[in-house]
Amino acid sequence: MGRRLGRLSHVTGPVDTLGRPVRDLRISVTDRCNFRCTYCMPKEIFSRDYQFLPRDELLTFEEITRVARIFVRLGVRKIRLTGGEPLLRKGIEDLVGMLASLEGVEDLTLTTNGSLLARKAEALASAGLRRVTVSLDSTDDTVFMAMNDVGFPVEKVIEGIEAAARAGLVPVKINMVVKRGVNDGSVVDMARRFRGTGHIVRFIEYMDVGTTNGWRMEDVVPAAEIIRMIDSVFPLEPLAPNYRGEVANRWRYKDGSGEIGVIASVTQPFCGDCTRARLSAEGKLYTCLFASSGTDLRRLLRDGASDEELEQTIRRVWEARSDRYSEIRSSQTVGLPKVEMSYIGG
Ligand code: SAM
Ligand code: SF4
Ligand code: SF4
Repeated sequence: MGRRLGRLSHVTGPVDTLGRPVRDLRISVTDRCNFRCTYCMPKEIFSRDYQFLPRDELLTFEEITRVARIFVRLGVRKIRLTGGEPLLRKGIEDLVGMLASLEGVEDLTLTTNGSLLARKAEALASAGLRRVTVSLDSTDDTVFMAMNDVGFPVEKVIEGIEAAARAGLVPVKINMVVKRGVNDGSVVDMARRFRGTGHIVRFIEYMDVGTTNGWRMEDVVPAAEIIRMIDSVFPLEPLAPNYRGEVANRWRYKDGSGEIGVIASVTQPFCGDCTRARLSAEGKLYTCLFASSGTDLRRLLRDGASDEELEQTIRRVWEARSDRYSEIRSSQTVGLPKVEMSYIGG
């Protein structure tokens, strides 16, 4: 786990038009979620009548594993399961077991809202999951409940985080999306709550993913401001990245009580090192979080394509890739059509 990319230079996988290899695969296993976070699945759009994907349109675990195996052959070393809420997918631990047995996967992890984690952490760890990232946007119930918009309490997520740590899914990473005027008042409290626990809080700039969350630049709290807020109460110093392409800038508390990260996708884009591919729940391949269209791998899988044909398709898509949305983000790009994050996976 955590091997540096440099040591993998023997891999003859594809390289995109900007010289980036494919190293990470994010797999969305469902587009459904039991939360309605206002910045991701606003209730007004994702209502009772919203048409989620029918079951038979989701890739099966066998199909996902087959695609993942090909990606590993092409250079992927890290797999993340996501969604929607991945723990809503029935039998998710079976998929974890299937992916864990793929030779060449050095890191297998999952991003969850934590609501079902207390129940599932042990089974996930036994199946071969290595680590987990849990999203939590505030330690204040009023703020958190307004953000998840289904009245889900903080304490239940913390129970999930603790169950994950007990199951050995460490270090637990905790994602907090910071939105100005909504939960920026919780930044220091989140730092206070988790320093000294071994868990790593990662503060994320609110992004213009999808088209439904009404994103405005004024709502973004820049990472530099987040660091200033925490540093003024708990002094910080920067840490070197663990590996090239790491999305979070790392900081540690000067008193030795742990580490935090900031993900500055808006104010300090990191497209130059972006080695991530995304597979949607229905089997479309996307090469950027902000893409508007993907390549249908499910059709190939269900039409009887061979592994070689699948590999050639993925190679072609990756070699044609020129995405760098965050670097060219502007008032012109913000309103363009993009797939939703709950569909493509975070
Ligand atoms: N449901 C799971 C969860 O919330 O952890 C996994 C999927 S969620 C789409 C993955 C991550 O994306 C979460 O940490 C979430 O907070 C983050 N996210 C969603 N919408 C975002 C936005 N507009 N800007 C920044 N991060 C966002
Ligand atoms: Fe669901 Fe995660 Fe999106 Fe929140 S961020 S609505 S938990 S998919
Ligand atoms: Fe990667 Fe696209 Fe994000 Fe840039 S904007 S870092 S290319 S996913």
